[in-house]
Amino acid sequence: MKVLVINCGSSSLKFQLMDMETESVEAKGLCERIGSEGSRIVYTPVKKPEFGKITIESPMPTHKEAIQIVIDCLTNAEHGVVGSLSEIDAVGHRVVHGGEKYVDSVLIDDSVIAAVQECAEFSPLHNPANIIGINVCRELMPGVPEVAVFDTAFHQTMPRKAFIYGLPMKAYTEYGIRRYGFHGTSHKFIARQTAQFIGRPAEELKIISCHLGNGASICAINGGKSVDTSMGLTPLAGLVMGTRSGDIDPAILEFYGRKEGLDVSQVTEVLNKKSGVFGISGGKSDFRDLEEGFYAGDPGCVDAIEIFCYNVAKTVGAYAAAMNGVDVITFTAGIGENSAFVRGKVCEYFGYLGIKIDEAANKERGEHVISTPDSKVTVCVIPTDEELMIARDTKALAEAQ
Ligand code: AMP
Repeated sequence: MKVLVINCGSSSLKFQLMDMETESVEAKGLCERIGSEGSRIVYTPVKKPEFGKITIESPMPTHKEAIQIVIDCLTNAEHGVVGSLSEIDAVGHRVVHGGEKYVDSVLIDDSVIAAVQECAEFSPLHNPANIIGINVCRELMPGVPEVAVFDTAFHQTMPRKAFIYGLPMKAYTEYGIRRYGFHGTSHKFIARQTAQFIGRPAEELKIISCHLGNGASICAINGGKSVDTSMGLTPLAGLVMGTRSGDIDPAILEFYGRKEGLDVSQVTEVLNKKSGVFGISGGKSDFRDLEEGFYAGDPGCVDAIEIFCYNVAKTVGAYAAAMNGVDVITFTAGIGENSAFVRGKVCEYFGYLGIKIDEAANKERGEHVISTPDSKVTVCVIPTDEELMIARDTKALAEAQ
């Protein structure tokens, strides 16, 4: 079975075509600057490595043209990887917000599209783009099963005490304001892969999954189920991130707005785009640059890294308490997978958990354990693969229909 995975962002579209017999990637790519000047597709026909990376500049006023170009690339006589569109058996869409309605991935029909539309008020940049992607695929590939895989679904197992905010109850009952959590596809993948990697059933493990990328969140996973997570109603909550503030005193909104002459939506923009390690360091959000600055003694970079690592360690501690213990801590995503420096710094806080880090192992790459054999808690690095998780769910639902 061949599954096309589509991830529509507000002005971008990531895609991957997977052969599910071998779970291998046949082609992948990215359409950028959709809806503005200079739009282009970067396409890699993995199955035909002789072509390397192909960049094609082409107007993409909407996601529709973008998907058409993706299809043209995949079916191209030279660098294409399928003879015709009919070889694609199913399409899996990443959908950001599924609200409370979706506790798992679903086959898409009109009612699913309506529900995704309803959730758009929680995710105004992403859900509408996701719907366009779904509709265009329906039009171009009629009859091919499409599946929605929600970022929020994995967290629907959280207990009320973890998802209800300390607000008047009508905030939840009338407006749906609650913790939803995000990165669910990644945390779900990590829960399963971690269990498989250490050779124990997920049902008997307490795992803390640290997805540390430009957006970052931590998830407490007890017996394979999410029981708490750091993002909230939106992906702005929780850890200090690349450009997002994470948790702050809510009174800051009014106070900072008054000082800067900004209204609430302008302050929210600052919290989303100009805060986090970017704001703290004075303009750097990539951890490679921040590490370099740290070693050069740049005070902004030192602050940013210390604050980020402290935030991660503090949240892991909260989740170890919430689950009354932890068996495995897993690092994943851009920073979690690649920065031995950040992992080492975070783990300095974990002496009380009986964790010791093997410095040499911490420097290795790929799927590996970084704690010493006598550590009371296993700490490992597992590269996340959201596309594979989406493709697996899509295959399972398409086959079951
Ligand atoms: P993601 O959002 O998961 O793609 O992660 C992107 C972030 O990972 C980048 O902004 C960098 O901060 C970080 N990153 C990627 N590679 C490295 C690396 N080799 N060392 C440190 N940080 C890295």
